[in-house]
Amino acid sequence: MAFQSPKGTFDWLPPRSERALRVREAVSAPARRAGYGYIETPTFEDTALFARGVGESTDIVSKEMYTFDDKGGRSITLRPEGTAPVVRAVLQHGLHNGRLPVKLWYSGNNFRYERAQRGRYRHFSQVGIEALGADDPVLDAEVILLAAEGYAALGLTGVTLLLNTLGCKECRPAYRAALQGFLAGLDLDEPTRRRAEINPLRVLDDRRPELQARLAAAPLVTDHLCEACKAYHEEVRSLLSAMGVAYTDDPRLVRGLDYYMRTTFEFVHDGLGSQSAVGGGGRYDGLSEMIGGPPLPGVGWAIGVDRTVLAMEAEGLFGEEDPAGGVPVQVYGVPLGEEARRRMFRLLAEIRAAGLVADMAFGGKGLKGAMKGADRSGARFALILGERDLAAQAVQVKDLTTAEQTEVPLAQVVHVLKGKIQ
Ligand code: AMP
Repeated sequence: MAFQSPKGTFDWLPPRSERALRVREAVSAPARRAGYGYIETPTFEDTALFARGVGESTDIVSKEMYTFDDKGGRSITLRPEGTAPVVRAVLQHGLHNGRLPVKLWYSGNNFRYERAQRGRYRHFSQVGIEALGADDPVLDAEVILLAAEGYAALGLTGVTLLLNTLGCKECRPAYRAALQGFLAGLDLDEPTRRRAEINPLRVLDDRRPELQARLAAAPLVTDHLCEACKAYHEEVRSLLSAMGVAYTDDPRLVRGLDYYMRTTFEFVHDGLGSQSAVGGGGRYDGLSEMIGGPPLPGVGWAIGVDRTVLAMEAEGLFGEEDPAGGVPVQVYGVPLGEEARRRMFRLLAEIRAAGLVADMAFGGKGLKGAMKGADRSGARFALILGERDLAAQAVQVKDLTTAEQTEVPLAQVVHVLKGKIQ
């Protein structure tokens, strides 16, 4: 049998692939307008970067990484998330020694060996932003606002922002101890008990309903915040409210990565079933130190491109699309004969240079086959070029909506088409 894409992966094909491009464009545009510069890091990194940066106790590191030794004996891991690589790059190039905050955005693929299902893939794509070097609630609010603006620009209305804080180095230990005390009183299975010892907050993230029910009485981080964290969180909330960004307080929101502190948030969509998170992020003030750098606060998010497309499809936000998945063709060339093909090739280049979208019949099709291609392309105009036209230095311009056909001198056709189309 012919090859299939590996389990948990899929191909983006036209015309649907246009949707992924549209999401990437729309969710990065607000950040670009707010001074975020584009960064591209390698698809693979030192395994230790993720082990230390994301955290050994996380599902990502303990179960989901694509790790292998390269031919030089280095342990390499395909990027499971984008933040640790960005912080690594900032530290490596000393970007934090310049103007702060360092503001960066990225777009790329991630790899996680997850249980594959709709909306959850082993290879998926994210757009993300990171702002490093400022510990300021206004920056947290800006980051959240930029994501909300991206979803709004796509026309999504079913997205809810869940907001929480995880406290800081000062207050988290006391909360952690309280949570551990509570969890010790539950009859937990062995892996969960071990997780409760290493990272009890992550137990709150367990999706099993029977466990969730027993966690209902668990202590909440919001009851254990220090004064500074309380004030910080209040400020983030009031800045968002002032901007009309709706949010739901979710004191149980913890995220699957260890590096979060203070502000954490997730965007969920109500039309996606169990894989409802379309984006998420937060503040990760300890990450730089965890990977051997100086103290460097940071805040950011990653938006899942694949799931955002699914959310838009659930809301019926895509209208009619060009079947070939490109920009809809406006002009279609129908050359009849070898000489006409050569001339049409040049003519289309001129038409495109003038800003129009043009395609043509390839493979030496006859008039009938080529006209069928013109119809299928969705173009408004067909340019029919036969031997007689060539001799007359003219071309037949056929309006495919009215079937009206006029002869236009070759030297004027670009001008005439521009006039008709724009
Ligand atoms: P995370 O990096 O886990 O915080 O995820 C951020 C966003 O990426 C999520 O809200 C999802 O939209 C998306 N995402 C994470 N994991 C997957 C996956 N396995 N398949 C598809 N999208 C994912």
